[in-house]
Amino acid sequence: MKTIQLGDIRIDRIVESESPLFEPTFLLPDATPEAIDPDRDWLEPRFIDPASKKLIMSFHSYLIRTPRKTIIVDACVGNDKHRPHRNFWHKLNKPYLKDMAALGVHPEQVDCVMCTHLHIDHVGWNTRLVDGRWVPTFPNAKYLFARKEYEFWDALHKTKPEEPVNHGSFEDSVLPVIEAGRAVLVDDDHEIDSGMQLEAAHGHTAGNVVVNLKSKDSRAVLCGDTLQHAVQVAHPGWSSRFCHDPVQSAETRTKLVDGIADTDTLLLAAHFPSPVAGTVVRHQDRYRFKPRE
Ligand SMILES: [Zn+2]
Repeated sequence: MKTIQLGDIRIDRIVESESPLFEPTFLLPDATPEAIDPDRDWLEPRFIDPASKKLIMSFHSYLIRTPRKTIIVDACVGNDKHRPHRNFWHKLNKPYLKDMAALGVHPEQVDCVMCTHLHIDHVGWNTRLVDGRWVPTFPNAKYLFARKEYEFWDALHKTKPEEPVNHGSFEDSVLPVIEAGRAVLVDDDHEIDSGMQLEAAHGHTAGNVVVNLKSKDSRAVLCGDTLQHAVQVAHPGWSSRFCHDPVQSAETRTKLVDGIADTDTLLLAAHFPSPVAGTVVRHQDRYRFKPRE
């Protein structure tokens, strides 16, 4: 994704990984080959790998620079995390911070980190390993967690402290931030900065939120995993196997897609592959995702 200038807001992307990853029906149980076929002409090769038929998934953060603040939205998997049950994420060693530096931002310059939800692939860079301890990667940042989202996972952790929550990511990528006093629990409609406001989008997780951006007359929505793959633009009713409440998730997704269809609002999801940014357009009886580059 090239840098996007949305009015006064600059948006960049820091990519941790991007590749064909999941069989469609593994991620989206409704996504059988027959169900995908009518949309295959626009989904391949950009969103579905024609050779393997796997869904192409990107894991990236958005680096948002408003005139006042530097903000990270979603924090990928992170380096050195012990993820034996997700071997493609086990003990990664990625040049994420180097890539951020190439965009002109060093960890101490980040003012704010916002995770749309607290799944394993959205919290990783919250912390890094220093002398055997997990410490906040961004030492001067406030880490914003939606209160409902944090309380859901915290309750699970407290009920069964011996069982790792979200493959251990709650313990190594969320709790150290709380213990370091860097976390702020916020309401679902929290305003991060002028023109940057959260909105409840429950369903994928109990307290999932999206981030709405508006500057001058331009708008974008950082939808996190409310949509995990572009095929869900055509089928907003398809929830993923990782959705906490598939029915509520489908309702939330449908509302979001309907709300931005045939407008200039840019959709910036957490896992759409390059070039990532695009709009939702109607095509016959369904919607399509139209990449902007
Ligand atoms: Zn995700």
